[in-house]
Amino acid sequence: MRRSRRGQTGGVANSRVLFADYAARWNASVPAPAESFTYATVLEDGREFSLLGLRLPGPRPVVVTAGFHGDEKAGPLTLLEHVAEIVAYAAARGVGLQIYPCINPSGFEVHTRYNMAGERPNNDFLRYEVQPGVWHGELREGQTFTAVAPVGDGGPKETVALARALAAGPTPFAALDLHQDNFIHGAWFYAYVFGDLAAYRPLLARSGTLVPVLRGSIVDSGHEPDSNIYADAEGFIVSHDGSITDKFQRDGVLYTAAIETTTETPGPIADEINLIWIRGFVDLAAQGD
Ligand SMILES: [Zn+2]
Repeated sequence: MRRSRRGQTGGVANSRVLFADYAARWNASVPAPAESFTYATVLEDGREFSLLGLRLPGPRPVVVTAGFHGDEKAGPLTLLEHVAEIVAYAAARGVGLQIYPCINPSGFEVHTRYNMAGERPNNDFLRYEVQPGVWHGELREGQTFTAVAPVGDGGPKETVALARALAAGPTPFAALDLHQDNFIHGAWFYAYVFGDLAAYRPLLARSGTLVPVLRGSIVDSGHEPDSNIYADAEGFIVSHDGSITDKFQRDGVLYTAAIETTTETPGPIADEINLIWIRGFVDLAAQGD
């Protein structure tokens, strides 16, 4: 989910999916009582791309986001192909949903990490003041800061639009962001998390029955060159990286995570891992606090 380097091109079969096809299928697939909506339209390379959402009214809403990085296709495809099942699962448990399935549609269309304009929508929700007047997009482990602020209107188009859409709704009870690691070879899983790790351990364990969990290992996935980000002995990373997950923990969201399958993970397995975590986050909301 990090930002500084360009991802390699994954060899996945669905690396090319036309966004117009995705959007048409999304709007046709969202079932009642949920409703689909467009929260903004962005112009990239002279073309308009709709920013898509889904809303299911209900208490303790769960936000699910995917597709910040356009070359990480599994999350947007899981949400498209399983939207009816996900809505039914949340509705049966009395939990609200907000789903933003394809946050960077132009990057999705051309299968690039960033958008067509080269902006980096992922890690630009927050900035940290690490010294007076010096603002960084992320904190190194243990680094202190004197202030934290939203990026506001100066961020990438998709980030600004999403931040506005989120600000117009309730603070979620839980928030899950679906990513893929396009740098590590082989099938692996790990997760960026905040809050009570005990809540995530059953989900990590179930994911680990499908692919190995990356444990005790450096995660060299688009980092700033001087950062040292490690998946810990369990496969968790706690990192203040300015992402939507970091933003939500600053907002006081109890459960917030960004999960990473590798892009070399077979699609149906990445799909199942995404669903394990989506259902798990709905369950956390259903249990309440
Ligand atoms: Zn990513």
